[in-house]
Amino acid sequence: MNWKEVCPYNPKLNLKDTYIYDTTLRDGEQTPGVCFTEEQKLNIARKLDELGIKQIEAGFPAVSKKEREIVKKIANEGLNADVLALSRALKDDIDKAPSCDVDGIITFIATSPLHLKYKLHKSIEEVEEMGMKAVEYAKDHGLFVAFSAEDATRTPIEDLIRIHKNAEEHGADRVHIADTTGCGTPQSINYICSELSKNLKKAHIGVHCHNDFGLAVANSLGAVEGGAQQIHCTINGLGERAGNASLEEAVMSLKMIYGIETSIKTEKLTEISNLVSKLTGIKTQPNKAVVGENSFAHESGIHAHGVLAHALTYEPIPPEIVGQKRKIILGKHTGTHAIQSKLKELGFEVGENISDEQFKEIINRIKDIGDKGKMITDADVIAIVEDITKRTVKSERIVNLEQIAVMTGNKVIPTASVALIINNERYITSKVGVGPVDAALKAIQSIIGEKIKIKEYHINAITGGTDALAEVIVKLEGYGKEITTKAANEDIVRASVEAIIDGINKIME
Ligand SMILES: [Zn+2]
Repeated sequence: MNWKEVCPYNPKLNLKDTYIYDTTLRDGEQTPGVCFTEEQKLNIARKLDELGIKQIEAGFPAVSKKEREIVKKIANEGLNADVLALSRALKDDIDKAPSCDVDGIITFIATSPLHLKYKLHKSIEEVEEMGMKAVEYAKDHGLFVAFSAEDATRTPIEDLIRIHKNAEEHGADRVHIADTTGCGTPQSINYICSELSKNLKKAHIGVHCHNDFGLAVANSLGAVEGGAQQIHCTINGLGERAGNASLEEAVMSLKMIYGIETSIKTEKLTEISNLVSKLTGIKTQPNKAVVGENSFAHESGIHAHGVLAHALTYEPIPPEIVGQKRKIILGKHTGTHAIQSKLKELGFEVGENISDEQFKEIINRIKDIGDKGKMITDADVIAIVEDITKRTVKSERIVNLEQIAVMTGNKVIPTASVALIINNERYITSKVGVGPVDAALKAIQSIIGEKIKIKEYHINAITGGTDALAEVIVKLEGYGKEITTKAANEDIVRASVEAIIDGINKIME
């Protein structure tokens, strides 16, 4: 079955040569709070190149000396992609770009009545003249030149047509329609691009859409339908305010909905998204299209069943082609069969290494965590299974925890009281420590004696949030044995105690 065949309403356009222009390193870096180091910018530029981007906007040389050094390094990195730099329509700005060894310049000036009146204090004629001089001057350097009309979507169409025709005549290789405040619609940008296409002879049209209304990708696609050949994107949709068109979403929409193959190696999309997220410290939302953690995750029994029967039922994009994997998520909506198949995948078989009784408890624990709105990872399942299968053999153990109570706070010394049953005899003690875990473990240690020692103690939060499942791993030494054990619980004291007691039993076995 072909994906296109099951989507009868999608546009049937005969478009080709649509390409993606990446401005992660320029507009993306203008994301509030984001500033890349030189090494980070080079790293991203190399990854963008590997991704198959044809043109990279590396920076804004007029910003600083350091910015010029970085743009120059990227330009001299030997990338397949062309490296471009942004300049205002000013001679001084343009002069700074060629010295960075870039392949092209984007020169921009605002054209909307709003920007003319309140920002530039100039007439449209003055601005047009500045723009044309800038194009001509940039072109004199023998470089690729794009002319960008800032706030184009709030500029009268007759001005846009005249200015862009003029820019083409002055040598612009491409003109950009900037939806600077993201207030265009797919229809309005489509209209602007089709009017321009009718009036331009050879200059390509590019679109630069911002995401203030969440329409950046939709507007870019509207532009493509209207004749634009190029979409400005950033990885993860980074950029000023609400950001720019997300590269991942634009590429996959073009490919899957429009049938347009770009130069992008889509299987690398998730990797570069993760890299940029790591470098910027801006976490990608889980439900982000294409690259989000949940983009290919199915929890409900109905969806999981459908997607396992035929992927297209609930997956419009095969996860592998964007470097993702399908995830069947266990949660409160999951059925018994899904849990059983997940257990099998992890090496646990009901009736073999898990009893029916334990299986029921596993389901309850999984659903309990699911009810709290938590995503349950494989590690959680393993932790739960190990915890349950271990605890149920308690009766055979030499040492059993009967009771534990801890007290902690800012005005008390953390204290733990522990009651252990060892060979059917009850031992009870209290100890203080630097914290509740320390106090609890010291109490246990004092009952057990010095023959068993805690050599190592590690704790991991397996799931996020303050109600995360904590996993404690301990290494104990005694009676010539060294044992590593772990336990999982939402309570770190209980996880710690369970891990220690498990270890003590293994040593004393
Ligand atoms: Zn922008």
